[in-house]
Amino acid sequence: MKFFVRTFGCQMNENDSEHIAGILARSGAEKAARPEDADVIIVNTCAVREKSEEKLYSYLGRLSGLKKKRDVLIGVAGCVAQIHRDGLFRKKPFVDFVVGPDNYLEIPAIVGKAAAGRCVETGRVGDWREFGSRETLRESPTTAFVTVMEGCDNFCAYCVVPFSRGREKFRPLPSVLGEVRDLAGAGYKEIQFLGQNVNAYRDTETGRAFADLLDEACAVPGLEWVRFVTSHPKMFGEDIIQAMARNPKVCRALHLPLQSGSSAVLERMNRGYTRDEYLALAGRLQAALPGLLLSTDIIVGFPGESEEDFEATCDVLRRVRFAGLFSFRYSPRPLTAAARMADDVPLETKRRRLVALQALQKTIQLETNASFVGRELRVLCLEKSPKGGGRLAGRTEGNLVVNFPAPEDLIGRFTTVRITGCGPYSLHGELA
Ligand code: SAH
Ligand code: SF4
Repeated sequence: MKFFVRTFGCQMNENDSEHIAGILARSGAEKAARPEDADVIIVNTCAVREKSEEKLYSYLGRLSGLKKKRDVLIGVAGCVAQIHRDGLFRKKPFVDFVVGPDNYLEIPAIVGKAAAGRCVETGRVGDWREFGSRETLRESPTTAFVTVMEGCDNFCAYCVVPFSRGREKFRPLPSVLGEVRDLAGAGYKEIQFLGQNVNAYRDTETGRAFADLLDEACAVPGLEWVRFVTSHPKMFGEDIIQAMARNPKVCRALHLPLQSGSSAVLERMNRGYTRDEYLALAGRLQAALPGLLLSTDIIVGFPGESEEDFEATCDVLRRVRFAGLFSFRYSPRPLTAAARMADDVPLETKRRRLVALQALQKTIQLETNASFVGRELRVLCLEKSPKGGGRLAGRTEGNLVVNFPAPEDLIGRFTTVRITGCGPYSLHGELA
C-alpha cells in the first residue's frame, strides 16, 4: 500500500504529517512521491483562517477527480477534521475517513476500516501521546521539529486552536531531551521546539520550565542551533530571556506575535498584554540579546478596529522594526468568542489595511536586509534554491533566507556566505 500526505498550515502540522507518515511506514506502507501514485491520500488540514479552509476544499475537489479515475482512499486529518468531524462527509461526500489530531496512532486501523465504509475518529486524549522515532518520518536530515506541547488554554477571541487542538498538554522533559539527543546523534544540526505557546512549557512531573529545557538542549553535544515557536508575549518571562542570553546555541531570532498595536483591540482579542507591555518586552529582549531579529503576526480588521487602532499597529512596526511579518485579514472562525461580535470592518477596509501594512513592512525589511550587505554570515545550507541556477538556499541564525551558488554536497552543513545583495524577503551572496 502506498500513501501520500499533503500538509496545509503551520510547522505543527508539518511535524504531525511527519508522524502520520512514520506511523503508516511502520505499519508496512510506503510513501508515494505523488498523489497519483498513492492508494491512500491524507490531507492534513488547517482551520485557523477561512482562507486555509477554502484552500483545503479546493484541493479536495481536485482529489475527487483522481478518485473517479482510480480506487483511492481519501482521508482528512488535522484541525478541520476535529472541528467538522462527520460534517465533512456532507460537504465532501467522496471523503472516506476523518481523523483528529489526537488519533494519529490509530491511522493504520482507520485506513483498514475505511476500505469497508466511512470512518470518523476524533476522540480527545487528555494526556500527552508519545510518538517514537519509528513513528516519525522526517522531511529534512538537517533540521528537525520537536514538539514540546500541544493545544492551548489562552482562548484569544479570534482563534479556533483551543477548539481544534484542545487544552494545553505538555510532553515530559525526559522524552523531549531523549529525542533531542537522538537527533543530535543522527547528525541533525538544528532543532526547532514546537508548541502553540512554548514559553508556557513545564514538565508536569518536576515543574521544570521552558528555560530549563533550553539549558538542557543546549548541553547536548553536536547540536548547533536551537529555535522555538510560538511564544506568547503575555508570559515571556525574564528566566527565558536569561536562558537565551547564556546559551549562544539559542538562535538570536524570535517569533513573537503582536496581533495588534492597539491596547483596546488587544483587550477585545483577550491577548493579556497591552501595547506598552509588548514594546517593553521587545526592548528588554533586544537589549539582552544583541543582534536579535524579531518577527511577528498581525491581524487587520478585527471587530471594531478603527483607523487609529490600525495606525497604532503600524507605529509598533516602525518602532520594533520586525525582520519578518505574517499578516492576515481577520475572518470569523466557528466556536470562537469573536464570531459572536459584529464583523464590522468592511472587506475593502481590511484589504486596504493589509496592503498598507505589508508595504510598510516591505520598506522596513529592505532596510534591515540591506544592513547585512557586505557582511559575512554563517549559513546553514538547507536545500537547492527554488530559484534554481546551481544555487542553494540556507538560513542565517536570525532566520533570514540566503540564496548563493554552491555545490549540492554542502546541503546539511554550515558555511560562510558573503552577502552581496538583498530583496525585501531574502539575501543573496557568494561563498566566502
Ligand atoms: N499560537 C500562536 C498562533 C496560532 S495561529 C500565537 O499565539 O500567536 C497563527 C496566526 O494566525 C495567529 O498568530 C494570528 O495572527 C492568525 N489568526 C488566527 N486566527 C485568525 C483569524 N480568525 N483571522 C485571521 N487571522 C487569524
Ligand atoms: Fe490561538 Fe491565542 Fe492560543 Fe495562539 S495563544 S493558539 S492565537 S488562542
